[in-house]
Amino acid sequence: MSRMHLKVIISLLVLLTLSSGIKAIQINANQKFELKEYVALIHAQTETVLDLEVKLNESLVQIEVLESEYKNQIKEMHDAYLKLNEAHALLIEQYEMVKSQNIALTDKIIYLTFDDGPSPSVTEEILDVLKQYDIQATFFVQGRNAIRYPEIVKRAHDEGHIIGNHSYSHNYSLIYESIDMFWDDFEQAQETLYEITGERPNVFRFPGGSSSAANLSGRQFRNDVANRLLERDMQYFDWDIDSGDAASVYATAQTIRSNTMSQLGKKKRAIVLLHDTDAKKSTVDALPGVIEYYISMGYRFDVLTPNGYTAHHN
Ligand SMILES: [Zn+2]
Repeated sequence: MSRMHLKVIISLLVLLTLSSGIKAIQINANQKFELKEYVALIHAQTETVLDLEVKLNESLVQIEVLESEYKNQIKEMHDAYLKLNEAHALLIEQYEMVKSQNIALTDKIIYLTFDDGPSPSVTEEILDVLKQYDIQATFFVQGRNAIRYPEIVKRAHDEGHIIGNHSYSHNYSLIYESIDMFWDDFEQAQETLYEITGERPNVFRFPGGSSSAANLSGRQFRNDVANRLLERDMQYFDWDIDSGDAASVYATAQTIRSNTMSQLGKKKRAIVLLHDTDAKKSTVDALPGVIEYYISMGYRFDVLTPNGYTAHHN
């Protein structure tokens, strides 16, 4: 209600009071004493009305004060809202930063590799553990073992693991005797694995590692093999971490675990050497602990590819 409206109403009230007083005067024209009383009454009522007007004016002033206070509060709320918006934008920025850092963290990759299999007693247990953790690994199989247990190679391949060539015979004195003998053995492994999986491997590991090839046949031999592999879009892989499971038949699960932990250091990527021959029961026992340790250190797992990460020994 505006001030103008209030004034009109008050004026009407005053008029109404006065007119009722006038009416009373007409009725009691001959009674002077009563007239005086009426005049006094009208005066009193008029004063009451004036009082009311003053009080109304005071109320209007209070309303105006309240209105300006509300305006201030609305402004404060608006300011707070703007600050909240700023804080929100900052939070989103920080979230994006943390997210990108996490992606950088998960860019730490472990490549588990299992050599010399397949074997009937160990390889399938390793496949079970890998399946349990939903991890893919690379199996550098010996062709002579693959042909004995093709269903195990097939299972590994079907479960998304990479089957790599690790020679057919794994016989050092044969394959490191001459470059021709090396390639004969190599091709025999390639074709054996092709018959089992329908794919020819594109990753290779020298028996004993590339340093064995260099030591036994010379660096030139090793480099020739490496170059010919590249020409075929293939790659060879040594390792960054030696689990030590082949170092001794007595290597315990605890030793294997501590080797895989102690050699990790600050590596962003690391190829881990393990074995899945019949003698490596302790490798199976150690594997869950090894996997969980790497996960706890922020690593994820991946398979080896010819264009991806590799490790080459001298
Ligand atoms: Zn081997």
